[in-house]
Amino acid sequence: MSRKALIAGNWKMHTTVVDACKLAKKISEACGNLTDREVLLAPPFTVLSEVSHVLQNTPILLAGQNVCWEESGAFTGEISPHMIQDAGGSAAIIGHSERRHIFHEDDSMINKRMRGALAFGLTAILCIGETLKTREDGKTFDVLREQVVKGLDGVSDVDVPRLVVAYEPVWAIGTGKTASKEQAQEAHSFIRGLLTELYEKDLADSVRILYGGSVKPDNVDDLMAQADIDGALVGGAALSSESFGRIINFNK
Ligand code: PEP
Repeated sequence: MSRKALIAGNWKMHTTVVDACKLAKKISEACGNLTDREVLLAPPFTVLSEVSHVLQNTPILLAGQNVCWEESGAFTGEISPHMIQDAGGSAAIIGHSERRHIFHEDDSMINKRMRGALAFGLTAILCIGETLKTREDGKTFDVLREQVVKGLDGVSDVDVPRLVVAYEPVWAIGTGKTASKEQAQEAHSFIRGLLTELYEKDLADSVRILYGGSVKPDNVDDLMAQADIDGALVGGAALSSESFGRIINFNK
């Protein structure tokens, strides 16, 4: 099964309109004419619309960094799927470890966000990953199972083509520590197996599983060479067009 690689950049709470537009333009230049891979950027909501204008005639996709499950209403501080689409986005990152650990979003809320995003036509990137303590306690696979099963509860076959999973070990996010390619492949292969338990095999095999956690120009090639690593979710290194440009242009 061949899956088109997806390189996603999460800008987190960085950039104002001017910086964001400059960065998006430089990243689009770094993409060149690549057709065998997709590139997605998740800027802050406040710059989504302006960045979408900069990227208008490029294949780069745009995502929100989170999304609400409702279309509109009394949900102070939230952004709806329709608002993301209106600003030029087609995807949302859901369940990022910073949402889980700093803002205490649990699997049940993350599942609501997943279902909402998919129901309104967005691509939904479900982030999962274990803490260092979980890994040291030998419970990594139990936690991944729980996050996948609960996060995808009620997500039906028709929505799976717009599902992406990002495996991001919490201990590797923003720390400069990367999972070794063997650790990452082991986790990705386990997640692939879980998807096969939930969905028909061809469908499960078509889901892209991204690795995230200190992906940098000097480790991307090794990670992308693993059988079940279909792309990367990049934080820090996505804020520089030089490093993100190199990551996008990973060598196969
Ligand atoms: C992330 O925020 O999803 C991430 C993986 O960050 P970093 O690349 O900085 O570790």
